[in-house]
Amino acid sequence: MKLPKTLQVGPYTYRVEVVPDLLNEAKESLFGHADHAALVIRIGTTCPPGRLGTTLMHELLHAVAEMAGTELPEEQVRTLAPALTDTLERNGLLAACWSDDAEAERPPLRQRVGVELPEER
Ligand SMILES: [Zn+2]
Repeated sequence: MKLPKTLQVGPYTYRVEVVPDLLNEAKESLFGHADHAALVIRIGTTCPPGRLGTTLMHELLHAVAEMAGTELPEEQVRTLAPALTDTLERNGLLAACWSDDAEAERPPLRQRVGVELPEER
């Protein structure tokens, strides 16, 4: 899986960056982190390739909660991220949204998922 360069979360565009030595405040290694002030989702190089999807979904859930003005407890995010990733993959929806070709221009979401969505802001 190649990571997208950006992800749209409501009206906000998050950049997706891969960074070495991604650490939390306690200097523990992290697979991912969402910086809502800077609108950046960082993925650490220690994240195994097989966990990129769930890690990105994990950070995306934090970003969606932030955008919605709520907060999801870490335990709920840890539970929901792999379950949601698996469900979207099984229904062929994840591949439609997260292009394997990071260089490709992604069409608007409504075209990718083929459903009527409100106008993008
Ligand atoms: Zn988290």
